Amino acid sequence: MFVSDLRHFLDLPDDVPGPARRMADHLGSVVRAATAAEAGSPWESALRCQRRPGRRACPGHIAVFRAELPAAIEWRCTACGDEGVISGWEDSCFDLRDPRPVPDDDVQVEIVVSDEVAMGLRYLRYLDSDCERLVFRARGIRTGAMITGSRDDIDGLIDAVAAEANHETNRTRRKRFDAAFEALSEAPQVAGSGSADPAPPPRLTLVKSRPKKIVGKWRITEMDLWDLDALDLVGPAYIQFDRQGSGEFGFIAVTGWLDCRHTSTDGRPSVEFSWEGHDDNDRASGRGRASLQEDGSLSGHIYFHMGDDSGFAASPWGDSAGT
Ligand SMILES: [Zn+2]
Repeated sequence: MFVSDLRHFLDLPDDVPGPARRMADHLGSVVRAATAAEAGSPWESALRCQRRPGRRACPGHIAVFRAELPAAIEWRCTACGDEGVISGWEDSCFDLRDPRPVPDDDVQVEIVVSDEVAMGLRYLRYLDSDCERLVFRARGIRTGAMITGSRDDIDGLIDAVAAEANHETNRTRRKRFDAAFEALSEAPQVAGSGSADPAPPPRLTLVKSRPKKIVGKWRITEMDLWDLDALDLVGPAYIQFDRQGSGEFGFIAVTGWLDCRHTSTDGRPSVEFSWEGHDDNDRASGRGRASLQEDGSLSGHIYFHMGDDSGFAASPWGDSAGT
């Protein structure tokens, strides 16, 4: 039995040895899982056991139990029997207890992801507390982890993953986030029963996924100031956003190179940028913004420094290229 007081693991000095830091991370994750879900009954989280009995990774998940009244959190591995209790977790940065009541009538969606994807999600650094609860409430199942939440919550998580993948400069972490993004946005979302639904629920309702990220090439289909014939003067009008935060656009005789900041607006991916380039033979510059719309199109605005500005709409390049 491993008895720990979380307060001893908070604010560790920078020179603390690796194993102690990993233990602190693990205990923090156990607390987040135990506080992200309802109290009162034990359940199997998606957290993997950290032990290596016989020099092999233990296949177990960590089951957690938290009593209704704040008390020590109990945990045990479902495979090797490793177990412990954690006290001193209340009001730490890992305490995800939600003061708001959970609405019963929200349709819950279930997504199954691999253990690796579940772990990638736990590495996300800029999750709001709703998303963090979604990630740490994931249940361990034989094939990996099951994430359950309302469609809005899951859309919010997908957006957060996309935004962080766009920002990430470390290759390994970016790959991990890209994999998580694809797993989440392409996974069939199964509408679950919802806890308050008395009728036998219709199973296997697939929810169609739609484009979730801004990175990529877009066909400009419309601008406020010019009609499409003018826009396509030199070639099909387009705007493109690269993963590294750069990008470019071209319409009429204007070309621009972008310096982008990816962010989100009303829970949807969006981008703000400055640009430099040419308008015909003159140097030009300005700023702009764009955000992903509910229907998967892009809507934005381009400003010329000391000049015009115009709204624009665009659709994914693949949908309309060659037209
Ligand atoms: Zn184990």
